[in-house]
Amino acid sequence: MTQVDEEHFSRDFLAGQAIGDFQGFINRVKQAVPFYQDKLSGIDPESIRDVDDISRLPFTYKEDLRKAYPFQMLGVDLSDVQEIHATSGTSGSAVVTAYTAGDLKLWSQAMARVFRRAGVGSGDVVHNAYGYGLFTGGLGMHYAALEVGAAVVPMSGGYTQRQVKMLKDLGATVICSTPSYAQHIAEVMAGMGISSADLNLKVGIFGAESWSQEMCRELETQLGISALDVYGLAEIIGPGVASECVLGHEGLHVAEDLFYFEVINPNTGRPVSEGESGELVLSSLKREATPIMRYRTGDITRILPDSCPCGRTTRRIDHIKGRADDMFTLRGINLFPREIESELLRIEELAPVFQLVLDRNSALDILEVHVEPKDGGVKHEHLVHKIKTHLNRTLGINVTVAVQEPHSIPRSEGKAVRLVDRRKLIR
Ligand SMILES: [Zn+2]
Repeated sequence: MTQVDEEHFSRDFLAGQAIGDFQGFINRVKQAVPFYQDKLSGIDPESIRDVDDISRLPFTYKEDLRKAYPFQMLGVDLSDVQEIHATSGTSGSAVVTAYTAGDLKLWSQAMARVFRRAGVGSGDVVHNAYGYGLFTGGLGMHYAALEVGAAVVPMSGGYTQRQVKMLKDLGATVICSTPSYAQHIAEVMAGMGISSADLNLKVGIFGAESWSQEMCRELETQLGISALDVYGLAEIIGPGVASECVLGHEGLHVAEDLFYFEVINPNTGRPVSEGESGELVLSSLKREATPIMRYRTGDITRILPDSCPCGRTTRRIDHIKGRADDMFTLRGINLFPREIESELLRIEELAPVFQLVLDRNSALDILEVHVEPKDGGVKHEHLVHKIKTHLNRTLGINVTVAVQEPHSIPRSEGKAVRLVDRRKLIR
């Protein structure tokens, strides 16, 4: 099968398949999953006749999955489960997601597409610096490498100097990690006197964080690669729901024959028109162990209207603007850390690391922007003034700026902590 054949579907085919999938799902989970028994009572599967009918079915929320901890959403017997993952549960109980042998095949298939879109296959050496463990990033990338016949180096995160040595010595052609960790690897590499010319890398597959186009260009320059965005979430399958192709490199192809997707207005719950921003809603109906219908991801994106030069007909979504959970409000202005990253990286004197601290001074919210200069020689007052003026002009916000010593902001070995909200500690 060529690259194009595997993602070459007509809209009619996809709509027809989705209707069948939803009908089958309703029949199946009504027997097997008590949560959906209640939610779908009174809904006749045969009444689903078009995508508009689908858009009126009930949503599933993160809170539903938390309440179902650990196994209330299981659609199969536990003896049929082969792998279990869980989200970190930092803001509530963890969400458990389980895989049958069939689900692991589905995941591998979705992830293999991520690699093929990136031009990765047999003969490639994949340096996998995603954390292995309950987090789905590590094993998701691992399965992809096995599926496309590439060699995989299961590095996981941490021991960054050793990572750089292995990248160089094993001749890795592909690097997989969070973008913030890739940035840290690039920085350590430079400190060891190793440049991208000493490496064999051609492509990076980065995800699990929302990151800006400016960060993308930064990584491409420092590592000498195409830096591609991959998207997914454990609740649906793990990474592999969508990713960028190396040819288009603008927006992420959704594996929409495997995962049904919609973009909705988060307030009304109704679909937005093509090109308009809204919340991504995903269904994982082919999943056997923990199938999910119309999951509210909280991720903000839009469907790109144009077709992709690579020839795939699966629709593309824009880079995730941010998770609804990441959004914060500063004196009435809604902001995502990614927007601030985007602006900070335009200031050439700054190193591409930063941290935001939200604090409260009496009744007023204050955003402190912690940055580092690229080199120690630059005047701090000059930088403070430049950053304050730039953020005020571009985002309309007033911030305080703390210029720190080089290498003092904590580096990420997995998901970066971009925002520290001290306001929550004060109450
Ligand atoms: Zn493409």
